[in-house]
Amino acid sequence: MNFLEEKILRDGVIKEGNILKVDSFLNHQIDIDIMRQMAYEFKRRFRGVNVNKVLTIEASGIAIATLLGDLYDVPVVFAKKSQTANSTDDKYVSQAYSFTHKKMNNVFISKPYLSATDEVLIVDDFLADGQAAHALIDLVHQAGAKVAGIGIAIEKGQQKGGSILRSEGYMVESIAIIESMDWEKQTIKFRNQPEKPLGDTNLTQG
Ligand code: 5GP
Repeated sequence: MNFLEEKILRDGVIKEGNILKVDSFLNHQIDIDIMRQMAYEFKRRFRGVNVNKVLTIEASGIAIATLLGDLYDVPVVFAKKSQTANSTDDKYVSQAYSFTHKKMNNVFISKPYLSATDEVLIVDDFLADGQAAHALIDLVHQAGAKVAGIGIAIEKGQQKGGSILRSEGYMVESIAIIESMDWEKQTIKFRNQPEKPLGDTNLTQG
């Protein structure tokens, strides 16, 4: 079991409706040590992949993205959510249905912060149906930029987002993948992720 799976079992709370609350370390209070470990793990898993920008969506992805941007020494951009932002000349705009809030959000990025030369590593806290990830991918493509990969803290493997993104050819790396969770028993099963031969953890290289 990896550090994030252990943390989820220790501090996560399963809510009715297939929702995992991780407010104590990710979605409300932020455990910097866990964020730092995640950033190192993404850097290890995306070893050899060129990245010149880290992209996330407000709000909970920002902490992970910031520490990862620090490791890569590249800018971090977060897409903003708004119910009103319509297409304008100065923004890339997409849409994502929010699984947790059950509403449609416009998500946008001001054009100067994404350009055709960017190789973008997308990161987020959760992957469920893939709505947020697809909106971010759409924004990257509108800018003519390239998706270098997608790094997710917690993937809910019972939902279809991860398998769709992988079938679309994206490199998706999720630190913890939930296979199933039981609200009444408060138990979680994680997908076994065999240690991949990704080279050493010398993070000063590549
Ligand atoms: P998706 O867009 O992939 O359907 O859902 C991912 C987004 O919904 C994430 O950005 C996250 O904010 C939220 N989300 C989905 N499932 C959960 C969950 O079980 N717990 C929490 N805390 N957020 C979730």
